[in-house]
Amino acid sequence: MNGLRQFSLEGKVAVVTGSSRGIGRAIAEGFAGAGAAVTVNGLNPETTQSVADAIVAAGGKSLALPADVSKAADVERLIEATVAAFGRLDILVNNAGISPYYKPAETVTEAEWDEVMRVNLKGVFLCCQAAGRVMIAQKSGRIINMSSIGGTIALPRLIAYCSAKGAINQLTRVLAVEWAPHHILVNAIAPGFIETDLTKGLRENPKRHNALIQRVPLGRLGTPAEIAGAAIYLASDAASYVTGHMLDIDGGWLAL
Ligand code: NAD
Repeated sequence: MNGLRQFSLEGKVAVVTGSSRGIGRAIAEGFAGAGAAVTVNGLNPETTQSVADAIVAAGGKSLALPADVSKAADVERLIEATVAAFGRLDILVNNAGISPYYKPAETVTEAEWDEVMRVNLKGVFLCCQAAGRVMIAQKSGRIINMSSIGGTIALPRLIAYCSAKGAINQLTRVLAVEWAPHHILVNAIAPGFIETDLTKGLRENPKRHNALIQRVPLGRLGTPAEIAGAAIYLASDAASYVTGHMLDIDGGWLAL
C-alpha cells in the first residue's frame, strides 16, 4: 500500500478547459498542487493568464491558453500547444460550460439551443477527439467530463443544459468502452449546485436559494474545492480501475 502517494500527479500533464475561474480553476490549482503541469484555458485572455501566473507563483508549472472549445481550430491549438510546452498529455478535464438561459422549454429559441449545445456538448467532443489522438498514440490517458445532476434528473427551465449534460454521460460511457483498449480511462463528475459565478443569480435570489438548500440533504451548496478533490482522484493512479463512471457530488441530492 502506498497511501497518499497513489494520488500524486507528479510528472503528469493536464489540460483543464474553462479553468480561468470557478470549478475549473479549483481543479487546475488542485492538479498543480498534486504535481501536474497544467494548461489553463478560458475565453478571457487576462483571467486565463492570471490563473496560470498564480499557479507558477505557488511553485507549479502552467501555461495559459485562451481558446474557444466549441471551435475545432482553437481546440487543436490548445492540445498542440500543451504537447509542445510539456512534451505529452496525460489528463484532459472537459470543464468549460455555460448556462445562460433559465426559461420554459416552449420559449427557447433555435439560437439559444444551438449555443448551449455548441459549448456544452460539441466542445466536449472536440476536446476528447483532439486529446484522444495524442493519448491513443501514447497508449495512456485520463479524461474527466464535467456533467451535472441535470444529466440524470430533470431541472425545469434548463432544457438545453440538461439535454447536453445527459448526452455527456453517454459520450463518457461510449468513449470509456471504445478507448479502454488504448488504456484511456474516461469518467464524468456530476456536481449538484456549487458556489460559482454560474450560480450567482440563483444564490442572490433568496426565495430560490432557500428552496434549493432545503432540497439538499447536507443543507448547503458545494464549493469548487469539493469538486477538485474528486478530479484529482479520477486523474490519479488511485482510480486505475475506474472507467465509464459518473461520480455524483451533490450533497446527497440524488439520494433523496
Ligand atoms: P463558471 O461560469 O464559473 O466558469 C466557466 C468557465 O468556462 C470559465 O472559465 C469560462 O471562461 C469557460 N468557458 C465558457 N465558455 C467557454 C468556451 N466556449 N471555451 C472555453 N472556455 C469557456 O462555471 P462553473 O460553475 O465553474 O462550471 C464549470 C462546469 O461545471 C460547467 O461545465 C458547468 O456546467 C458544470 N457544473 C456547474 C455547476 C454549478 O453549480 N456551478 C453544477 C453542475 C455542473
